Amino acid sequence: MTANTTRRRAIEQVEAYVPPPVSFAATEVPGEIYGANVFSKTVMQQRLPKSVYRSVIATIERGARLDPLVADAVASAMKDWAIEKGATHYAHVFYPLTGLTAEKHDSFFEPVGDGATLAEFAGKTLVQGEPDASSFPNGGLRNTFEARGYTGWDVTSPAYVLENPNGNTLCIPTVFVSMTGEALDHKTPLLRSQQAMGEQAERVLALFGHTDLNHVVSFCGPEQEYFLVDRHFFLARPDLLNAGRTLFGTKPPKGQEFDDHYFGAIPERVLGFMMDTERELFKLGIPAKTRHNEVAPGQFEIAPMFERGNIASDHQQLLMTTFKSVAKKHGMEILFHEKPFAGVNGSGKHVNFSLGNSELGSLFVPGDNPHDNAQFLVFCAAVIRAVHLYSGLLRASVASASNDHRLGANEAPPAIISIFLGDQLADIFAQIAKGPATSSKGKGSMTIGVDTLPVLPTDPGDRNRTSPFAFTGNRFEFRAPGSLQTVAAPMTTINTIMADSLDHIATTLEADVAAGTDFDAAVQALLTEIINEHGDVVFNGDGYSAEWPVEAERRGLANLRTTLDALPELVTEPAMALFEKYRVFNHREMHSRYEIGLEQYALTIGVEARLTLEVGGTAILPAAVRYQTELAQNVGALTAAGIEPDRSALEALSAHVAELRSGLQTLRAALAADPGHDAKSEAEHARDGLLPAMTAVRAAADALEEIVADDLWPLPTYQEMLYIL
Ligand code: ADP
Ligand code: MG
Repeated sequence: MTANTTRRRAIEQVEAYVPPPVSFAATEVPGEIYGANVFSKTVMQQRLPKSVYRSVIATIERGARLDPLVADAVASAMKDWAIEKGATHYAHVFYPLTGLTAEKHDSFFEPVGDGATLAEFAGKTLVQGEPDASSFPNGGLRNTFEARGYTGWDVTSPAYVLENPNGNTLCIPTVFVSMTGEALDHKTPLLRSQQAMGEQAERVLALFGHTDLNHVVSFCGPEQEYFLVDRHFFLARPDLLNAGRTLFGTKPPKGQEFDDHYFGAIPERVLGFMMDTERELFKLGIPAKTRHNEVAPGQFEIAPMFERGNIASDHQQLLMTTFKSVAKKHGMEILFHEKPFAGVNGSGKHVNFSLGNSELGSLFVPGDNPHDNAQFLVFCAAVIRAVHLYSGLLRASVASASNDHRLGANEAPPAIISIFLGDQLADIFAQIAKGPATSSKGKGSMTIGVDTLPVLPTDPGDRNRTSPFAFTGNRFEFRAPGSLQTVAAPMTTINTIMADSLDHIATTLEADVAAGTDFDAAVQALLTEIINEHGDVVFNGDGYSAEWPVEAERRGLANLRTTLDALPELVTEPAMALFEKYRVFNHREMHSRYEIGLEQYALTIGVEARLTLEVGGTAILPAAVRYQTELAQNVGALTAAGIEPDRSALEALSAHVAELRSGLQTLRAALAADPGHDAKSEAEHARDGLLPAMTAVRAAADALEEIVADDLWPLPTYQEMLYIL
């Protein structure tokens, strides 16, 4: 009988952990390193000729085209700066549709023939790259004969130097498009949607008297939740290593119900890791702000300060990469999966968003006079209309196999997309729904342009945490995105549906004003119409209550529980018309996103199914059989000694062993079955064939975990992984 040594060894190694030496001098002034590795506006101002600098800023703030001569000057300054920072290579960084980050590295230094090298970096190299792109998913957008993709510099997102023990790299944030100009990434549509939303918002603002503004953009502040586990445990769990989540494991005896972790003291080792990551993030100009424990043991959160949407999105990807590498340095592994541990709180990435610019701030902040309030209410009404009309698209923008463990499962938030406004704002809209005071003659009505708003609470404690889309005082918070996902897809959707609402509002008000209607009266009528048509999406109650799905159905709100229910929303006629109209996606691009969504879903579940078969068959079943043998030998020995044995343990074990065997058999058959040959049938096979078979294997294995002798159990347990840091 060989006791399992892998798990034991992992525990011993975890106990022997020694923290890495502190990586910075005690004399370092906090903040000193902020943005040290960023080719920021300040650096550009110092290093570029005035006219070049002005031209780049015009591109950033006003979307002006970048002149090739300007690009050359910027490239040259950027190269010198990067080489001073120790960079030997440059990379165009892009965000392919896997949701990951990709880079193509090239050396600055080119041989010049006589054994010497010359640092080369021209404007055209800065502005455009050509990675070998054929292995990135494209959902049918590229035929092999035109398998090339191009990367192009996103001027609005600053370049930075990424440090690495083996040499530094100048990283240039880029878009990634096919030869025919179609988007192969998450950034291109985000930039397009930002543009579309900005144009429509500016039309609305012009009606309120704001002209000659800087571009209106969307801002995003993502809250990232994650788990940390010791790396030795991680390496002893093939499921964590390959799928990012545990495919087996029973809940620890001490669960999160004790609440002693949430906002409790951060463990010392984790704090060391957090301080180290924040320092790295600061160097990259990523404004890491709050850090605290989350609900589950081993779970934490970081929320950088909000930034312009596309920059927040780039920074979010960079944050995830940075976290991964710093965690390793601290002997830990970071889990971004939405549900790494069954039965334990999952992780989301709440997307806080607002619209605005440097001159106006957030457009979701109520003003202190009736005119500003009217503008605030118009922008809120635009959100209500957008979310109501396009809730399916919002749901689809966060659909993935891993996020299905949160949405539509027994966890926050529900898959039904509704809006929480808070009592005060909901009450204001209820008053608006009745029309102006003159027509409703009574109290509880509100006249736009005359009445002021009560002070709205900005206290986040007031928040309804069960709502997928909540107003939080100066912004909205979309809580459905998963911890593993890029914020680009939900932000693209939000921008586009907001463009549509703002377009509707601007068009209506422009016509009313042209027809001679009083502006305030026109606004009032429009708000009343919007809240009456779309108010059903507002729900301030408990999103987890049993009554809500019933009530939501009565209101005609969709409940798209799984990824396969949600993805078809991308290819409905109205959805495609919407994205086409605002030039965010053409039909081919929408179809490609749909296909890729299906492919990724089938791929994720396929990997998990094979891992379930492997770990179940080669680690769990053998452990259970060994214990079965041990119990059988015990029964035999007792019988031989004339002692009546208790067979109940052996019988219970044998029953679960039989379940595990048959579960594995079914799973093997499901994996061998022909899943069909298009993305849709493969995805359906994953959902209907593989997932249930995996669940059955897991049920048997988890039952075994509770009865097999602890020294034989091969996998680090939930208890060990969640409580030992
Ligand atoms: P909470 O835990 O209450 O949700 P956090 O401090 O964890 O709050 O996160 C709030 C996030 O919202 C931060 O990223 C913050 O920068 C962001 N945020 C604050 N104001 C705005 C705004 N006007 N627009 C977009 N994001 C914002
Ligand atoms: Mg938070």
